[in-house]
Amino acid sequence: MICCDFCGKYRCIYSNTALDEEDSQTVVQYFENISYSCGSPILPDSHPLFNQLHIHQNITCDSPIERNYYSSRLKDVDLCYWCGAEDGIIDPSDELKSEFKTIYPLCASCYANGHEWSTRAPIVFQANKKVRT
Ligand SMILES: [Zn+2]
Ligand SMILES: [Zn+2]
Repeated sequence: MICCDFCGKYRCIYSNTALDEEDSQTVVQYFENISYSCGSPILPDSHPLFNQLHIHQNITCDSPIERNYYSSRLKDVDLCYWCGAEDGIIDPSDELKSEFKTIYPLCASCYANGHEWSTRAPIVFQANKKVRT
């Protein structure tokens, strides 16, 4: 995870293979000294781990948080899917909860701006129905 200095949203960093301790320390130290903004390459091509680490560069500060963030379990704080806010997360309706297995967090101000809950994996009720031909 890296935090964008402009919009404050977390962006996922992908690694080809698991980093050993030395490499992770190098990377952590490197990130402490740079300011990152959405859409930039994660490392300069001169960096020894350049081919190892990737980030989605088609993301802008307006992009919602990547869904991988929520499945990564690296953070268990609920951040608004749309703006990355930690505060003001509102609960989806029971109706929505009964329709989808995964509902991404939404904050009150995004809701006021017309955003809806982003969802995944609808719960299907017809699974046991027999199909007649
Ligand atoms: Zn950003
Ligand atoms: Zn929000």
